[in-house]
Amino acid sequence: MLTLENVSLNYGSFKALDGVTLHAKQGELVVLLGANGAGKSSIFLTISGIHRAAGGSIQYDGQQLIGRKPSAIVQAGVVQCPEGRKLFPMMSVQKNLMLGAYVHRRDGEGNRQRLEDVYQLFPILREKKDDPAGSLSGGQQQMVAIGRALMGRPKMLLLDEPSLGLAPLVIKQTFEVIQRINQAGTTVLLAEQNAFAALKIAHRAYVLENGRIVMEGDPESLLHNDEVRRAYIGA
Ligand code: ATP
Repeated sequence: MLTLENVSLNYGSFKALDGVTLHAKQGELVVLLGANGAGKSSIFLTISGIHRAAGGSIQYDGQQLIGRKPSAIVQAGVVQCPEGRKLFPMMSVQKNLMLGAYVHRRDGEGNRQRLEDVYQLFPILREKKDDPAGSLSGGQQQMVAIGRALMGRPKMLLLDEPSLGLAPLVIKQTFEVIQRINQAGTTVLLAEQNAFAALKIAHRAYVLENGRIVMEGDPESLLHNDEVRRAYIGA
């Protein structure tokens, strides 16, 4: 469904991505592990068309994404939920959610249905729909960020470190929701530093270091890999 081949990205003279090759098949939940600065966000921003790859290919459903506008990429079904949530704190929860539907703004009925789906997935957001997003707890704000991405009607959802800054119980709930979204049919690419929780729900995983994929495998084998345990699990 999504295939990156030999993708490179430079920030000036700095090589942030160096020949990244990875794929996610339809229905998969694929985890991308990497420490701070490994290049996880850079991969997502390149897939989403916010940064332009210096080389390589990004194919999604038979279409080349490199060179397309971010809005066209969302319209094709690839939607990103950015690191740090990036909500508008003074705007209401519902208005933040509706921003995710911008590319579908002419389909009012479809958006109403989609909003209902989001409120069913996150009932607390319905209760708080008129509150400023910035007044919610960290976990609830993460729900708004995921809900906003769902309003973009993803077939392929890119989740950038959704567990960042959340308490352990909230992290568990967040990963359960991600698993539910995937089981309902959305393909997920999940970037995380929280290797243990992410590998628990993954079908496959990659490890990224200094802009390169250094390991790939099934979650079980990575969970038992000494290097992965040392670097990401602290054991
Ligand atoms: P983090 O979780 O800390 O965001 P990451 O794995 O997502 O880490 P990136 O944000 O993709 O990593 O950053 C990869 C490298 O590129 C880092 O060294 C970072 O400092 C650098 N970098 C990121 N964005 C820019 C930019 N706009 N200009 C210059 N360098 C950048």
